[in-house]
Amino acid sequence: MKHRVHIIIFASLLAVACDNQQSETNKPLALTSAPEAAIHHNQNESFSAFQAKLIEDFWSYHPGHALYEGYYKYDDRLIVPDEKTRKAEQDFASRMLVRLMEFNANALNAANASDLAILKNLMERTLWYGDVFKSNEWDPSRYNVAGAFGLILGTDYKPLDERLQVILRRMENIPAYYEAAKTNIKVPTLAHTDLAIKQNKGALGVFEKLIPDSVAKSGLSDKDKAAMDARLASSLVAINGYIHWLENKRPDLVAGNGKNFRIGPDLYEQKFALDIVSGGTARELYQQALTEKKKLHARMIKLSQDLWPKYFPGTGYPKEELAGVKQMIDHISARHVDRDKFVDEVRRQMPVINQFIVDNKLIEMDPTRPLVVRETPEYQRGIAGASVNSPGPYDATANTYYNVTPLDHYTEEQAESYLREYNHWMLQILNIHEALPGHYTQLVHANKSRSLVKSLFGNGAMIEGWAVYAELMMLENGYGDNEPEMWLMYSKWNLRTVVNTIIDYSIHVLDMSEDEVLDMLINEAFQEQTEATGKWRRATLSQVQLTSYYSGYAGIYAFREELKNKMGDDFDLKTFHDQFLSYGSAPVPVIRKMMLDEIER
Ligand code: ZN
Ligand code: ZN
Repeated sequence: MKHRVHIIIFASLLAVACDNQQSETNKPLALTSAPEAAIHHNQNESFSAFQAKLIEDFWSYHPGHALYEGYYKYDDRLIVPDEKTRKAEQDFASRMLVRLMEFNANALNAANASDLAILKNLMERTLWYGDVFKSNEWDPSRYNVAGAFGLILGTDYKPLDERLQVILRRMENIPAYYEAAKTNIKVPTLAHTDLAIKQNKGALGVFEKLIPDSVAKSGLSDKDKAAMDARLASSLVAINGYIHWLENKRPDLVAGNGKNFRIGPDLYEQKFALDIVSGGTARELYQQALTEKKKLHARMIKLSQDLWPKYFPGTGYPKEELAGVKQMIDHISARHVDRDKFVDEVRRQMPVINQFIVDNKLIEMDPTRPLVVRETPEYQRGIAGASVNSPGPYDATANTYYNVTPLDHYTEEQAESYLREYNHWMLQILNIHEALPGHYTQLVHANKSRSLVKSLFGNGAMIEGWAVYAELMMLENGYGDNEPEMWLMYSKWNLRTVVNTIIDYSIHVLDMSEDEVLDMLINEAFQEQTEATGKWRRATLSQVQLTSYYSGYAGIYAFREELKNKMGDDFDLKTFHDQFLSYGSAPVPVIRKMMLDEIER
């Protein structure tokens, strides 16, 4: 899935007094003798009006983030991230939180009640990020202006000349922006400083080449062109100044005087509670993941031992049990499509997987919304081989595509390594995760009750957890004919999410060393060296996010089992899935509560 970047990470904030004149419509209603239904109706109406206004106001504080969602009203505003801005943003969040608390979730319909929960969480997170976590003081990579300029230039939402005028106005604040960045940063981490240097160096190209090239093609007047040159020059001075400033700090950080990138137990638990919303603690999830790893290993050893005579006849299973698993995975990974058939194979699988879901009555599949597989457009090609590309909620052209990147830019060696990873079995699991009935199906169901709140601020653990749950659910219902090879590959895939949780917690809370992390990824999760070092790097730059896949999955699975026990013969898998998905991308515990209430009624 094209994951939306968490707003807080962008956090370019703006001091606008945008809602001092709070409307009176959303005050809670006095509970008089009016019929209950009428009160509910009014509460729902006032909530709808309130949340629409809240989102509008939110964008005035986060115009950069708004651009990424296709909302261009404030496209020429570059927010200077100074203390005044931070305070205004925090004030907005506090005021909104107070207003949100005035709504009674029990008086709202399910769609609004879950939107309410998401918005409360959003405001609580904003406050915590701004007042407690304060990565604006230690993460220099938060400061980089290039992305939004590149997006304005690359998106055809108005004529080029008009967009260049927007860019001209937007560049005005770049020097002040980087001055504020330097004021904010107290003691940075070495890892985030290196990332900031690298990314800001990358940003130079936008102002040295991309914008000047567009100006040359444009119909801008000579006067505007001169103004553009001047602003481009001062922008480059500001960005280069920031890079040099960071480079000067670097020796001291290398000497060990930087901030530790490991955030420690207290901040970790708080961030986990706010970002994941699992209902439990990070510590509990970590313990659960350790147990799960043991179970997966036991299953993988059993499968490998059973398969051994088929692939290595006449030889004994290795003494080192996990080494035998690795050898088996390596061996069967050789079964994969040819590099030039990769996209075709994905296209071939879609109707087959779809039919399996329909035949086995697993989830409602909307026949009017078949998934369109296409080759990823050149401008979107990154590393990922396949991903669901959903339009932003403000985008009128509502086409959703399954983008699959052909392997034609890869060397022979890269293509082979990629195809071994996405071998015969793994490619099917990838398609289940990304498309049917994973991310794409979840999106189709969520869009039935369109919610701006959920599509903008949906819970990442629910979204990823659903796709991970979908994989197991398909196999449980006989997808892949219970082939041991399929279960072995699935287990490797699932092990990745489990181990992501373990290493993220271990790195940030338990001080696990790089060597120990690499050892676990390579020898216990069967990953290649490049994947493992990439994962280590990601875990040093982010916190908690790596736990979202396993957390959401474990929550959904546990809830399903809970409901099965409760309902006995009345439990129906398809009904469960359809109802679960009907609430959109709300946190799993929020959906659980609403479903239990619904069933009670
Ligand atoms: Zn091969
Ligand atoms: Zn995913």
